[in-house]
Amino acid sequence: MSSLTPTVSTQTRCVFSFSEKQQQQLYLHVKQHKGILNTADMAALCAQYKQPVEVILRACLPIAAKFAVVPISHFFVGAIVVGYDKHGEQHFYFGANVEFAQQALSLVVHAEQSAINNAWLNGAKKIAKIAISDAPCGYCRQFMNELADAQSFDILLPQQQFKLADLLPHSFGPQDLGNSYSLFNPAPQQHEFVTAAKLDKTLLSYALAAYVPYSENYSAVKISTFENGNFYGCYAENAAYSPSLSPLQSAVSQLHLAGLAMTKNVVKGIELLQTQGKENQLSVSQAVLASYPGLPVLQSISLNIKPTAV
Ligand SMILES: [Zn+2]
Repeated sequence: MSSLTPTVSTQTRCVFSFSEKQQQQLYLHVKQHKGILNTADMAALCAQYKQPVEVILRACLPIAAKFAVVPISHFFVGAIVVGYDKHGEQHFYFGANVEFAQQALSLVVHAEQSAINNAWLNGAKKIAKIAISDAPCGYCRQFMNELADAQSFDILLPQQQFKLADLLPHSFGPQDLGNSYSLFNPAPQQHEFVTAAKLDKTLLSYALAAYVPYSENYSAVKISTFENGNFYGCYAENAAYSPSLSPLQSAVSQLHLAGLAMTKNVVKGIELLQTQGKENQLSVSQAVLASYPGLPVLQSISLNIKPTAV
């Protein structure tokens, strides 16, 4: 074979990717399942394309990136968490970056946050891998450092694989603030809200499941839609504070993973629940919502919290 032979055929043997048509079909499937593939879905893809899981996982990253909403950067990032639920069943949780037009850049949701949030809200208990379409920024490395499995999970980039300690040496984490718990390994919940009002029990339970070791503002958001049910978001704090994920951004990310938009034709109502005396989410929520003209007014509720009766 001549040394001038094009190397394209070699590259295509080494790197598997879905065609645009296949990507679109898979995008519709993932959208229908609100950003999650299960083990059977993945096994079927591996069998159909005769590729191992990690190859299919990386090939799915452009599909995850299709969920990105990026009016500022136009830079689409996809991430997929491989996680296990309480029954030990494996799921693939998609995520993508979300930006808010004409608002502070610090409000954006990064793809890694989106995928981790998706896994967390949907019952993942252990994270084994996080695949990302681009190298994680410093903000995301810090966000991932709050996870219970921070020392063990693999970070898969398109061509490389790392442990978080490789990318974030000499890190600052929950233990440095005297917090022995972590995201996905929270302190046992021993509180309940004091309320006589007929509030959505699911919203209350999401708020109590918030990971808020630093502010203690148990907080959640519910976005109700006209035709596609409710989307919930939970507050997830970080020891460095600034990569914390606010409950509204958490809920908006989930809504986008169902392929929906934050428009007045989709969104019927938005509720923010916070802990009385600890509130810190109203102004940031209003800032994010200012990106979307014509939405219903945010309903803000604060409730007292008390120790659960034994
Ligand atoms: Zn990032």
